[in-house]
Amino acid sequence: MPTHDLENLRRRALAVMPGGVSSNVRALEQEPPLFIARASGAHVWDEAGRRFIDYVCGYGAIALGYAPPGLNEAMTAALAAGIQHAASSRIEVEAAEAFCASVPSVQSCRFHGSATEALQTAFRIARAATGRPTIVKFARHYHGWVLPTDAEILSVAGGNSPSDYAVLPWNDGEKFVAFMQRHGSEVAAVVTEPIMANQGCFMPEPGWLERLQSCTREAGGLFVMDEVVTGFRVALGGVQEQQGLTPDLSVFGKAMAGGAPMGVTGGRRDLMNLLAPGKVGHGGTFNGSTLSMASVLWCIGETRRRGPVFFAGLAATGQRLMQGLTTAARGAGVAVTTRGPGAVFWLAFDGDDATDMEPATYHRFRLAMRKHGIRVGPGGRWYVSAAHGEAELEATLQAAATAFRGITA
Ligand code: PLP
Repeated sequence: MPTHDLENLRRRALAVMPGGVSSNVRALEQEPPLFIARASGAHVWDEAGRRFIDYVCGYGAIALGYAPPGLNEAMTAALAAGIQHAASSRIEVEAAEAFCASVPSVQSCRFHGSATEALQTAFRIARAATGRPTIVKFARHYHGWVLPTDAEILSVAGGNSPSDYAVLPWNDGEKFVAFMQRHGSEVAAVVTEPIMANQGCFMPEPGWLERLQSCTREAGGLFVMDEVVTGFRVALGGVQEQQGLTPDLSVFGKAMAGGAPMGVTGGRRDLMNLLAPGKVGHGGTFNGSTLSMASVLWCIGETRRRGPVFFAGLAATGQRLMQGLTTAARGAGVAVTTRGPGAVFWLAFDGDDATDMEPATYHRFRLAMRKHGIRVGPGGRWYVSAAHGEAELEATLQAAATAFRGITA
């Protein structure tokens, strides 16, 4: 398909889908149109036959690379057995055992079709366990798009009940303690991303997460960690494993399933048991789908087989890119900031308006990178996978040097 036909595909998409997309963030990649046809390793190919080195990585779901051979076989076997039996299965039990064995704070879990649902389940458990209404979240953290925790991020019109949530600044111990002193007795749960992956990749201040955990518990609330980005990407058991934290409930997704739909709520057995039949309501047609279970089982198994070197490799790849991008920008006379643990990181142009979904200079840079065969996600966040090797990094940094020079031209 020649590139001009992409405009035609875009027109057809617009005729049948709002914005021509199935999720709003994707609209940012449609100027000019981009339709991905297939992916393998560190690459994606679009409908026009162009190949890109990909740093979107399925919004973080791809950590082992696209379509690794073993995963395809595991999923194909699940497909051949006919999917969507809407029943318990051996593979579901095995996936749950593998997940519980990977995250020390998790004794019991329930699977969902997305992490948005898994977070809603955690909040429901927290409200039932404490008899309290308020979920505390932090500004610019993303916990899915369902009310109420999306409220301050997406400015959703209508339907919010302000008493159900509170939004506090992150890494600000004084404000947090002051809030808990006044309202702690209404707090059902405090939920946090352990790294602010979705907006700027800010790292937690030393001791901050531990303080959140202890203050929340002292107030009688539940500490909930959203490890949807960090789990199975920065470490098997996420940041909680690295920092020795023991959240009451946790939510994982993305990389643990290699691109299959996934969200899982897990934690203390007594809390999770509130979901037992006849207690707190819980449902979902696609929960525990055998296709996703096959994927989880294979991805966890493969990640464990590769061991700590897998996570060290992702971090090193990202850090090499962060350094290389900073050097290339400096060489072109452009000031940038990079931030994050490496396996996921942020690139921002100094002076760009950080509150925009896609600041102007970054947008120009991203389009220039696309012309050089590099797919960088909208906004500023980069993900890497184990399939990103030396050749991909070199090609990326060379393209970046040209793209940065184009910005100053
Ligand atoms: N939590 C975090 C930290 C996320 O990054 C995301 C998605 O990007 C979610 C929750 C929601 O996950 P899902 O898109 O699977 O509903």
